[in-house]
Amino acid sequence: MRMSAKLPWYHAGLRFGCLGCGNCCTGEPGYVWVVQSEINRLAELLSLDVTQFESMFVRYVGRRKSLIELPNGDCVFLERPSMRCKVYQARPQQCRTWPFWSSNLRSPADWAATAQRCPGTDRGRLYSLSEISAALAQDR
Ligand code: SF4
Repeated sequence: MRMSAKLPWYHAGLRFGCLGCGNCCTGEPGYVWVVQSEINRLAELLSLDVTQFESMFVRYVGRRKSLIELPNGDCVFLERPSMRCKVYQARPQQCRTWPFWSSNLRSPADWAATAQRCPGTDRGRLYSLSEISAALAQDR
């Protein structure tokens, strides 16, 4: 008899459709991890030298790099009052894979907690298990 791998609780897929509210770009302190290729892309989008970009928008957290945030918890690239991302085309991988992060998918309760913060959760397009797994594989 073949052993079948245990499927995750979200094996039938999950819905998500961003409403553009900006909640995920503000709030409690957090990190937007960036690697060098992402920094380079962001600097290029803003027509800045990479060194200049890093001195203005990047901080070290141990050996890793994160975008800075404002004292009110806003991502440095969140534009108010439109709540748009100023660097949307070049946003880092972490922003692209929201809300399919391992911390949000540990259990249905964690997903429900995500939905409290992100009104785009559980509505919109159905993402398949393989799409969710691909997002999770990029988790940092
Ligand atoms: S919190 Fe959700 S709905 Fe609001 S901007 Fe972020 S991803 Fe979109």
